[in-house]
Amino acid sequence: MRIKEKVIIRRSPNYHPEEIEQIIRERLSQFELNSKAQGRITIKPNVVVAHAKIAPSAFTGPEFLDGLISALRNEKKSAAKIVVAEKCGAGIPTSRMFRRAGYYKLKKKHKIKLLPIEEARKKTLSLHKGKIHKHITTAKEIVDNDFLLYAPKLKSNILTHGLTGAIKLNIGLLLDRERIWNHNMHLDEKIVDLLEVGFPDFIATDAIEISMGGNQFTQLGRHLGIILMARNPVAHDAVCAHILHLDPQNINHLRLAHERGYGPIHLDDIEIEGDVSLEEIQQKTKTWDTGFVKINEVDCNMNIEVGEPYCTGGCHGVFLDWLYMIKDRKQELWENLPPWTVVIGNYKGDVSTDRLMLIGSCSEVKGKIEARKRRSIKGCPPRHKDLILWLFIKARLFNPLLRFDLIMDSYFFLFLTWFKRFIKGRI
Ligand code: SF4
Repeated sequence: MRIKEKVIIRRSPNYHPEEIEQIIRERLSQFELNSKAQGRITIKPNVVVAHAKIAPSAFTGPEFLDGLISALRNEKKSAAKIVVAEKCGAGIPTSRMFRRAGYYKLKKKHKIKLLPIEEARKKTLSLHKGKIHKHITTAKEIVDNDFLLYAPKLKSNILTHGLTGAIKLNIGLLLDRERIWNHNMHLDEKIVDLLEVGFPDFIATDAIEISMGGNQFTQLGRHLGIILMARNPVAHDAVCAHILHLDPQNINHLRLAHERGYGPIHLDDIEIEGDVSLEEIQQKTKTWDTGFVKINEVDCNMNIEVGEPYCTGGCHGVFLDWLYMIKDRKQELWENLPPWTVVIGNYKGDVSTDRLMLIGSCSEVKGKIEARKRRSIKGCPPRHKDLILWLFIKARLFNPLLRFDLIMDSYFFLFLTWFKRFIKGRI
């Protein structure tokens, strides 16, 4: 008889660490992982960005992590050495995001180590199955451990065809330069390459409050009240896709992971257990929109012309992410965006406009241009941080993430982190 991959869905209406602990502890036993989950344990959460005001739902909740760590620290495993490792969004120091996510109080309470991957001792590994990455560099603790546990936050993400689950978490294994390299039409293959290194022993997903509908950092939280647990990240993400009414076949990194033999995506090949059915959850999420559309289909004041190639994970997606930041957090500005014409990619046609903006290193107009103002922003793709800054400097387009505290994080504290790494020889 064929053994199916199991995904467990448990009700957990609140962020109560004791209840979360109980649920995860029971399931670790059910997966017969109690004896394996000890020694050197590395937990990889999702802390891409954390900010109480403008990104309160973008990261794995500290209460969730609290319950999860308590479940690992039962009597038998009290000596386990637990490390929480992460690299947050490009160009921001992870230590600042750990602080903003409220993880430092967990460090004290559970005597764990918080490890910003960029500050860690590194290991470079060859990827034998890699299509984009032939080797990667990441923290030693991601590779050398007895138990690798992923703790994603369930979110929609327009850069990855609508979903961020367990597999997408792997992009946070990389340092900035490797992370942004081929973050374009190759993003899906890139993410799947990383499964060779980042294949967790267990996944416990914070879906108590999920975030969806806009930009992966700033979008609003919605109460779902569940925890998902699994051993296979592909089966896990396939169930997450169905929760958001997405077809796993249309989520490229998920389909590619399946085709490369990492796990099943068809519900017939997955056993779903727990105290709440997939159908009941889907009933709740049936009107929830992921916001995943083509950039030129967005209904806003800007005129967006799409050229080739179309990079969902690159310039087209990153600019859509930029627009959604405003839609999520600055409604008034969203309704009154200045009417720029934005060209992304190689556009065949004439452009006649007052103000023209070209986004991306390959972007150009293969036709006649009539424009009073003409600006461009380079990058393949430009990082979110750079796009926010350059659109402000070159076009006076204000973004809600342009805040004094985040500017300090992104430049002053980033410099301090670099300096610390330089002193320790961990550049
Ligand atoms: S520069 Fe061109 S190839 Fe690179 S991400 Fe942008 S649109 Fe894609």
